[in-house]
Amino acid sequence: METLEFDYCVVGGGGAGAVLARALTEQVGGTVALLEIGPSDAGRDEVLDFRRYREVPAGELGRRIPIVQPPRGNGRFSYPISRVLGGSTSQNTCIWFRPPASDFADWQAAGAKGWGPEEISPHFDALEKRIHVETEASDLDSHRILFDAARDAGFKRIEFSAPFDEGIGRYRMSKSGHLRQSSSVAFLRPDDSLPKNLAILTGTAVERVLISPDGRAGAVATNRGTIGARREIILCAGALETPKLLMLSGIGPADELRRFAIPVRRDLPGVGRHLLDHPAACVNVAARGPLARDDVWNYAGVLFARVEPDAAWPDIEIQLGPELFEQQTGPAGYPGSPFGFAAYFTVNRARSEGRLALASPDHRADLAVDPAYFTDPDGYDMRIMVGGVRRARRLFATPAMAGWVGAELAPGSDCETDERIEDFIRETATTGYHPAGTCRMGSVGDPTSVVDPALNIIGISGLRVADASIMPTMVSVNIAPTCMMIGHRAASLIAADSR
Ligand SMILES: Cc1cc2nc3c(=O)[nH]c(=O)nc-3n(C[C@H](O)[C@H](O)[C@H](O)COP(=O)(O)OP(=O)(O)OC[C@H]3O[C@@H](n4cnc5c(N)ncnc54)[C@H](O)[C@@H]3O)c2cc1C
Repeated sequence: METLEFDYCVVGGGGAGAVLARALTEQVGGTVALLEIGPSDAGRDEVLDFRRYREVPAGELGRRIPIVQPPRGNGRFSYPISRVLGGSTSQNTCIWFRPPASDFADWQAAGAKGWGPEEISPHFDALEKRIHVETEASDLDSHRILFDAARDAGFKRIEFSAPFDEGIGRYRMSKSGHLRQSSSVAFLRPDDSLPKNLAILTGTAVERVLISPDGRAGAVATNRGTIGARREIILCAGALETPKLLMLSGIGPADELRRFAIPVRRDLPGVGRHLLDHPAACVNVAARGPLARDDVWNYAGVLFARVEPDAAWPDIEIQLGPELFEQQTGPAGYPGSPFGFAAYFTVNRARSEGRLALASPDHRADLAVDPAYFTDPDGYDMRIMVGGVRRARRLFATPAMAGWVGAELAPGSDCETDERIEDFIRETATTGYHPAGTCRMGSVGDPTSVVDPALNIIGISGLRVADASIMPTMVSVNIAPTCMMIGHRAASLIAADSR
């Protein structure tokens, strides 16, 4: 077995980790190792060519973690994770949104001091200097009429390249033509441009962090032996794997760790709690005849709307396309059609909190993932979802759609009352692929905090977290750019502390 040692070890080369490793290397004098369990994405056409985006989650570079079966509702879906450089940004659909300023004002209010809109904005700017983001353009009639429907329903056309509010716009995507702009493509290429003090060790599975009894993290145990970190270890393994690594290392709810005979290094009840997501559902309608389609990205545009009129920012995101979304409605028994339209929507600031728990002390075992959708005490998430169904129906009933749409396939026109719509939502709701919040950032005195606002694990030295896990509250849009921003800002925080 090799014995390696670096100044910094970054665990996980995904959305946040790849950005962090590169930015850190440029800002500190020491050596940085990026430890990634999967292979490099270099030369892998199925990753790099956006047209093949459906293949990675289903192939050898992706894995799916089933959910704990809910007492009521849809238990069929699973969480895809990817094991390849670039992480989920190597398999995602490249939708690129900057969250509204109000989200980061809420982060500050939740104890994330220094993460307000002014502080995070330069980090998004830096990402957008490096990552090519382009706006989709389509002149298909089947796409155009969805924009016309939004206009008929009273929504204005908006651009997503500047701060926005309610309205419909064309997709902005982190790609250049067919070339995906993952964190790896944008920050770890070309090889010969990489700083000499950065080592990228693919095929390196971190099994746990080695923490001394006095609470100092100084090395990680991996499949290739122990790797030392003279200064710091930063966990960037994603919202599902980072809390697992912490628990396997003795950091988490003490009673749960003891159940698996894991020596407790720090009792942090917040590890694995506060699992946030964007729950998703859809309305499907049949089309009256064949529809022209775009073979690569067949969604037309994204509509942001308010279900609750006094919401600080639109509370629902609706993606519209001339193609049915049957992933959950099909298995639930709803009819299909050769041609149709879908409105796929997510609750932007969903409040339900799921949880993750160890199922075994074996690092190869999956966690038990309980998304606990629709468990928020005042029923907010379900109210927004019901509003989503009603808004989608309004869009499909506009004059622009007359002559184009036939029967409603899901939930179906006989599903009218709120109660029936709620049943439909429970039966078909699925993940919006945005797990977050499982190592929540907050003030040190808050018992639910896992990391402080400088991303240090509370009560342990030499160990930080920088990925989707640290989000104190959900952001209102698709989360990959925010995860990359977290990686970028983490580099500045670490560099500042090293001076
Ligand atoms: C199918 C899908 C579609 C999506 N579409 C979009 C979209 O269009 N737009 C958007 O904004 N967001 C999208 N997302 C979400 C977004 O891509 C993720 O939220 C984001 O990439 C998370 O970043 P992260 O750094 O937290 O984790 P990840 O990107 O998941 O990175 C974690 C990394 O850690 C590595 N790792 C894990 N465990 C270990 C270990 N033990 N040792 C070493 N390495 C390890 C993994 O291999 C991975 O590279 C999508 C997600 C999925 C799954």
